[in-house]
Amino acid sequence: MNDRYCVFGNPIAHSKSPMIHAAFAEQTGEAMEYTAIEAPLNDFAGAWERFVAEGGRGANVTVPFKEEAFRLCDTLSRRARRAGAVNTLLLGKNGLTYGDTTDGVGLVRDLQYHEVGLGGARILVLGAGGAVRGILEPLLAMQPSSVHVANRTASKALALAEDFADLGPIDGGGFDAVAGPFDLVINGTSASLSGELPPLPDDLFSRGACAYDMMYGAEPTVFLHWAEGRGARGIDGLGMLVEQAAESFFLWRNRRPETGSVRAALRNLLLE
Ligand code: NDP
Repeated sequence: MNDRYCVFGNPIAHSKSPMIHAAFAEQTGEAMEYTAIEAPLNDFAGAWERFVAEGGRGANVTVPFKEEAFRLCDTLSRRARRAGAVNTLLLGKNGLTYGDTTDGVGLVRDLQYHEVGLGGARILVLGAGGAVRGILEPLLAMQPSSVHVANRTASKALALAEDFADLGPIDGGGFDAVAGPFDLVINGTSASLSGELPPLPDDLFSRGACAYDMMYGAEPTVFLHWAEGRGARGIDGLGMLVEQAAESFFLWRNRRPETGSVRAALRNLLLE
């Protein structure tokens, strides 16, 4: 029987993860199956237990269960402890559940794929929710010259910056305190979901700057459209999705899949 993996979420019907992992499995010849499971909102732990009882070996976890997944793990990676969230579960041979988060590594790998320089860069991160908490450690590890976190609720950005201050030069505040120029601006708010744009000054970008939206879709997001109109190079979060999946696949199977062809297939699917 093939080893079983899945992605848990609610809702989950539109997840691209089964397609991504099927492509990785085919490419590497790994005997595994990967499905999407809608876990009940009030019983994520039960859904994981049932999956394990039926032979499940590991899982991805998405909205709204990443914090609950964090709480049920027996052991956690250092980066998951920092993030306070888990997007990858792995059942150990001892029957214990290990949790990790691969979102931040996925973002950094995607930026590297696009040859965006991070060492010495002035970085602005918009948002202070779960997604931003998950990317700060890997971003700071790339030794940027500064990371500024700006959020609608300023106090959350300040608290986040304080939590990560031991890892590098980071500060935080409200949108009104944003002063550029920046070499890289990452939109980690969910404003793009509703077609909204955080209030940002026009002179945000340095020459050759990059604007990255963690959201993706068939069309550029409002943020990317705005940034490209101000001379920045826009990149959406599709590659991050593929790269975080590749890192999860590596944790489960100890094989590192090639991501270029999967990026292309996913982009084509979006444009159909
Ligand atoms: P959270 O709900 O935890 O946080 C939402 C954040 O967005 C908060 O900082 C909130 O500000 C801010 N926000 C919401 N609406 C607006 C608005 N209209 N204007 C300005 N700021 C706003 O969400 P997550 O952190 O989990 O997710 C954020 C985004 O990241 C989502 O779009 C998600 O799809 C994306 N993502 C992409 C991934 C990928 O692989 N590409 C992986 C993970 C996430 P406030 O604190 O003031 O409420």
